[in-house]
Amino acid sequence: MASSPSGSTSLGDPPAVDVLIVGGGVAGLTAGRELTKRQISCRVLEARDRVGGRTYSLKVGRDWLDLGGQWIGPTQDRLAALARELGVETFPQYHEGTKLLSWGGKLVKFKGDIPWLSLGSQLELGLMDWRLKSILRDFPIEKPWTSPRAEEWDGQTVETWKRRHLRTSGAKLFLDVVVRAVFTSEPRDLSFLYFLSYLKTGHGLEKLISIKGGAQESRFVGGAQRISNTMAEQLGDRLVLSCPVRSVTQNADGVVLQTDKGPFRGRVVIIAIPPLLASRIHYSAALPTQREQLMIRMPMGSVIKYIATYERPFWREAGFSGEAFSDTGPTTTTFDDTSHDGSQPALVTFSDGGAGRIWGDRPADERRKAVVDEFVRFFGPQAAQPVDFVEKNWNEDPWSGGCYAGVMGPGVMTDFGPALRQPCGRIHWAGTETAVDWTGYIDGAIESGQRSAAEVAARLHK
Ligand code: FAD
Repeated sequence: MASSPSGSTSLGDPPAVDVLIVGGGVAGLTAGRELTKRQISCRVLEARDRVGGRTYSLKVGRDWLDLGGQWIGPTQDRLAALARELGVETFPQYHEGTKLLSWGGKLVKFKGDIPWLSLGSQLELGLMDWRLKSILRDFPIEKPWTSPRAEEWDGQTVETWKRRHLRTSGAKLFLDVVVRAVFTSEPRDLSFLYFLSYLKTGHGLEKLISIKGGAQESRFVGGAQRISNTMAEQLGDRLVLSCPVRSVTQNADGVVLQTDKGPFRGRVVIIAIPPLLASRIHYSAALPTQREQLMIRMPMGSVIKYIATYERPFWREAGFSGEAFSDTGPTTTTFDDTSHDGSQPALVTFSDGGAGRIWGDRPADERRKAVVDEFVRFFGPQAAQPVDFVEKNWNEDPWSGGCYAGVMGPGVMTDFGPALRQPCGRIHWAGTETAVDWTGYIDGAIESGQRSAAEVAARLHK
């Protein structure tokens, strides 16, 4: 890994590299790789002592399992292409058998995509699906704030939309569970315009929530972080770890970044981190108001992820798929997490949204007991004794500030959305939050890395 360039920090000095990149997640590493291909010199500065950011794979028992992002699905073509190029194979998510819904403390078994709901609920969900699809057909995804109904949709939350349009408790529950699982937020947190734009970037609600044919269709052999680790190897000493960027100074000649490893100089900078974390960097020249205000108005979702490993996949043997959805925490969504070759049986679950907030402040052993107790309730007494149990509370990680992604409440997209990708002088913006295809996902991070690299390449005339 490179060490900090020595010498003066004066902006008058010739830049040490063309492009500095803040953040060694998928977005920043992709940008570094794209620039290197174009023979543009760069340095990727990463705060943690590892790359991958919101993807994080850990050896648990006999395999590498994911405590961060883990799934890939159809239409995530950038991620599929990158994984192929880097030699990271995928395998299908297990989903055979009976699924469970815990509603008001009562367990309901179901097969197919949607649990048994009353006829009224099913009709309402059908109508909701039709409504959303017709809205999304002509939705201006590059600029949602230009939609003729943008003000109206951005003036309400998903919660107020739900109260206005859904009457049955089944349909309301379905929307709550979906919002928590997809956004790690509560319906009251999200602007309805933002919700629509996320649905559009994720190719519709069905794709976002499905396993077969959807965003949870496949996993990566050896864990999703392999993608970042392989890109990091290729970048070599263009990557600097344990190097938090604290401030950005720019003038007509270039930029200087102050870091815990000293100053770095470049001609331009790509900041490839979530907007909230970008707001924690000091900018010596004030950024435009719209950008400043956007960054502090995009809070991260709340999530804790847990993995329990077992000697045998006893839930499969009992005819369960491993999927369980619950309207209470700590286990809001649960899946089979067994390794690709079956050698390491495992279950994975999440405390999403409100559950992530409540359980985040409880002691870890209390969380573990509550999760294991829920697994016993779902799948039987054999769940009581996991071989290993690991968790990651993303809410308390200072280099993520929560997960999966930065979200928008009412009014943010219409008033501040245009600042999301708009460069500020020599500062360009990347990160999955800036993507127009699969925002919030690894694929969106790649899109943002490619787009920002193309932007600065055009600017540097190379
Ligand atoms: P990040 O990964 O956040 O990268 C930003 C990097 O910048 C980090 O490494 C951080 O350490 C660094 N950084 C921050 N501040 C500074 C600073 N000041 N100086 C230097 N470095 C800094 N996506 C999917 O596609 N499929 C999934 O199944 C999925 N599931 C998820 C489950 C969980 C539990 C989580 C947490 C995420 C999940 N995601 C999933 C989302 C996906 O992981 C992210 O969208 C993607 O990894 C974001 O990449 P990024 O490069 O934009 O941001």
